[in-house]
Amino acid sequence: MADRTPQESSTEPTSAVKAPAVEVVDVTKTYRVGHTDYPALRGVSFKIQKGELASIVGPSGSGKSTLLNLIGALDRPTAGKVFVDGISLRKLNEDQLALLRNRKIGFVYQSFNLIQRLTAIENVEMPLISRGVSEKIRRMRASKMLKMVRLGGKLNKRPAELSGGEQQRVAIARALVTEPALVIGDEPTGNLDSKTTMEILDLVVQMNKAKGITFVLVTHNHEVAEMTHRIISIRDGLLEREQILHRLETFTDNGKALAPPVPVQVQDQEEPP
Ligand code: ADP
Repeated sequence: MADRTPQESSTEPTSAVKAPAVEVVDVTKTYRVGHTDYPALRGVSFKIQKGELASIVGPSGSGKSTLLNLIGALDRPTAGKVFVDGISLRKLNEDQLALLRNRKIGFVYQSFNLIQRLTAIENVEMPLISRGVSEKIRRMRASKMLKMVRLGGKLNKRPAELSGGEQQRVAIARALVTEPALVIGDEPTGNLDSKTTMEILDLVVQMNKAKGITFVLVTHNHEVAEMTHRIISIRDGLLEREQILHRLETFTDNGKALAPPVPVQVQDQEEPP
């Protein structure tokens, strides 16, 4: 269906296991408005390994959302390649991209994006409907997921009856219910106070650790970024810096490691020519 990263083995199971969760190779994105080009990304490359909790940081307008949309298979780069779980997105047509989003990627947004007329459990069931999962199994999986995010007592509440933090926990349950390889979050704690931000982050850390799901979060919040394994700093459409803060095996022993991380390796991007 798709080409593979050149360094991977040609046998599918081996390459799928070995491939990074995300690989971005020399990606550019230029928006054209009328006759004017706006270069949002100007040649960005990095990898995010499977099981990592990664953050993308940078000033407003630096290209973070553009990058997240490319990784989330919601948009295509002008040039360069994006691989998710070893699959090259540029070889996929629109239907295949939609299938990949449904099968492999969970999305969490700043504004939660829950359906207001549906209850918490119905919201979490939604992504399973398009997968053809039976109603009974959907209910069971959604209820289990809501219990995992500590909302077992609020299955039948509608979003308006829940706090911001609870709504975001429903959104996280919805993103995780399909057991995606990758969850991407666009400022997932941007609308939450600092205490709730840490609670949500704590939950993300637990889910990352318990299920080995890769997370990529765009954030303005340095406290959030410093909790992640890898910080990708974007400035003016370029990779400014990449910091690896935790080794995966030493990250959070109790799922609550809110202590500042110890940098074990710092890589700075070479100056662009
Ligand atoms: P960030 O998420 O870091 O704030 P964005 O990825 O949203 O940055 O935007 C990067 C640059 O691309 C900005 O200069 C922005 O104005 C521009 N841009 C983003 N989306 C569009 C668009 N649809 N059309 C034109 N320019 C855009």
